[in-house]
Amino acid sequence: MSDFRDDILNTKIMYLPGVGPKKAELLFGELEIVTFKDLLYYFPFRYIDRTRFYAVREIGPDLPYIQLYGEIVSVSIEGQGRGKKRLIFRFVDGTGSIDLVFFQGLTWIKDKIKLKQKYIVFGKPNLFNGQINMVHPEIDSPETENPGNFSTNINGIYSSTEKLRSYIGNKMIVKLMHNLLNLVRNKIPETLPDYLRDKYKLLSLSEALLNIHFPQNQELLAQARNRLKFDELFYIQLGILYHRTKRAGANQGFVFDRVGEHFNYFFKNNLPFPLTEAQKRVVREMRNDMGSGKQMNRLLQGDVGSGKTLVALMIMLIAADNGFQSCIMAPTEILATQHYTSVMQFLKEMDVKVKLLTGSTKKSERTVLYNELIEGKINILIGTHALIEDNVQFKNLGLAVIDEQHRFGVEQRAKLWSKSETLPHVMVMTATPIPRTLAMTVYGDLDVSIIDELPPGRKPVKTLVFNDSKRLRVFGFLKEQIAQGRQIYVVYPLIKESESMDYKYLEDGYESIVRAFPPPKYVTVVVHGKMKAADKDFSMNLFVSGKANIMVATSVIEVGVNVPNASVMVIESAERFGLAQLHQLRGRVGRGADQSYCLMMAGYKLSKESRKRLELMVETNDGFKIAEEDMRMRGPGDIEGTQQSGLPFKLRITDLSKDGELLEAVRKIVESILLKDPDLSLDENKMLKTNLENISAQKDFSKIS
Ligand code: ADP
Ligand code: MG
Repeated sequence: MSDFRDDILNTKIMYLPGVGPKKAELLFGELEIVTFKDLLYYFPFRYIDRTRFYAVREIGPDLPYIQLYGEIVSVSIEGQGRGKKRLIFRFVDGTGSIDLVFFQGLTWIKDKIKLKQKYIVFGKPNLFNGQINMVHPEIDSPETENPGNFSTNINGIYSSTEKLRSYIGNKMIVKLMHNLLNLVRNKIPETLPDYLRDKYKLLSLSEALLNIHFPQNQELLAQARNRLKFDELFYIQLGILYHRTKRAGANQGFVFDRVGEHFNYFFKNNLPFPLTEAQKRVVREMRNDMGSGKQMNRLLQGDVGSGKTLVALMIMLIAADNGFQSCIMAPTEILATQHYTSVMQFLKEMDVKVKLLTGSTKKSERTVLYNELIEGKINILIGTHALIEDNVQFKNLGLAVIDEQHRFGVEQRAKLWSKSETLPHVMVMTATPIPRTLAMTVYGDLDVSIIDELPPGRKPVKTLVFNDSKRLRVFGFLKEQIAQGRQIYVVYPLIKESESMDYKYLEDGYESIVRAFPPPKYVTVVVHGKMKAADKDFSMNLFVSGKANIMVATSVIEVGVNVPNASVMVIESAERFGLAQLHQLRGRVGRGADQSYCLMMAGYKLSKESRKRLELMVETNDGFKIAEEDMRMRGPGDIEGTQQSGLPFKLRITDLSKDGELLEAVRKIVESILLKDPDLSLDENKMLKTNLENISAQKDFSKIS
């Protein structure tokens, strides 16, 4: 690759013939296009195949954009007044007739069209009042075909924005693309070495770019897409795996080669129930890591209630057996306290010293704790962000466990690492299943362990949808459950943009619950994010201790509260929640042996997507299935767990929900290249290294861990 400063592709877009300062500004403001290269990588989002003409007789309402050939036999204007007036052309092709309908630009279009002349019509068939028509189709004379030397019959359609459309429409983008390719097509540096292109039958980069914009035929379009996806995935995986290989070489880890008294005693005497096969497997995976001399970097995925805490405890006991300290960092005080309580219960009177450190730990206790910690008297420290404060100094931190990892920023975690000269082993636990393809890109340099099995005896949560007219029935059911000694959550949405409205709903909701469940017979508590920590804890504790029957809350309870006696989750305005969140909420119940219920209250009018989400919830309890589906519906950028950090890469052409197979294949290819040439120093791989360095200069791969 030539020095990238000389690269014509880095020319500012303003210097492209046809652009100029004003358009350049718009292209930047609306599409973030700065350079020639940015425009070149602005791909059509769909294509119209002009090689295929449909007969009017063949048209059905489910067809995508199609093309017709024929003439317009009559024109009429119907409706009165602004916005109601419409222009209707009757179009015929010898096999039938169809109406072409326009609501805007009536005069202009009417003047443009001549009767009894041949036209090509593009549009999407549309069913209206039992009739098929086309709204705002494109109407062209057969002569006005795509001008210029990249003529093609498959036309790219570029996505646009409201602001852009009036000034730079699709035709303009096509024209600019045309100018651009004329200038650069012979100067596009190849990014994959010949041996790879030969082996995997990939188009050259310049052929691929030409055909993605101006496909010569469907076959070349498919090949172009494949080559560009390959490229995109290849460099992501190369970046991740190259740095991971390097780091693995550099980061010696503590060797935990003993499984000793603590672990064995616990296993023999304290384990209250047999481990699930999945728990055994993941503990084994982690034991192997920690015994290998390399630093462990592992993501533990397991659905809510799958028993991750116990896994964490067991590997912390192994750390203790090898003379090391360990810690668990949880995102909230409630969670940290819960971990602490359950760890203490598991350990009973075992000789392992565990301490809790949170924001509300008293100053005097802290001083003692800090001393014990640095002297090595504490084996396991459990806490919140308080763990990363400077005063917290371990004697020898060998293992750090992080719960619900997406709540912690990368820097916060890095601070924990810095507490030890040798990096401690790291285990990150998440209850938000991440689709495999996403895990491979976003968390690509973590190894992944999966608990895909719930402890035996759990009854799947029964999930039902109700609308408001059934509220009395739902309340009746809640009363029955309370009479049986069960507890209930009622959760309201909390969405940043309409926070104050949401709090109002919550308050109204709380009042109506208290009216329907009057004290003193019933005790209802409320918990939300605007409360003082002390009040929140007070309410929480009433519920956790079983003194309150009902907890009314915003989605703050989403994170990991464990009250096995709570058997009903009522989700208000369920249509406003995303799938991942619904699943998390549902996971709060079904933790005990009793049959649990998730009742989703929804409005009458639901969008198609909302309906689909609720149906999927009713259909399955499987978090991984839900995560995959979530990604399919919303796209990978919105998946929980990536929202905060964001996808570290902008994917221009790959769709992680559909291109999983290619991703797996590409990853294998990259692995085999690095196995043979970990430094990318072979001649044939020089190009890879140069490109990777150029990319890394712009994106920091090290931030993905
Ligand atoms: P999560 O994975 O959501 O963090 P927890 O670790 O809180 O799940 O475990 C949920 C509940 O299941 C806890 O009460 C825990 O004691 C219990 N549990 C964990 N492992 C098993 C097992 N193998 N058999 C039965 N119950 C288990
Ligand atoms: Mg948990």
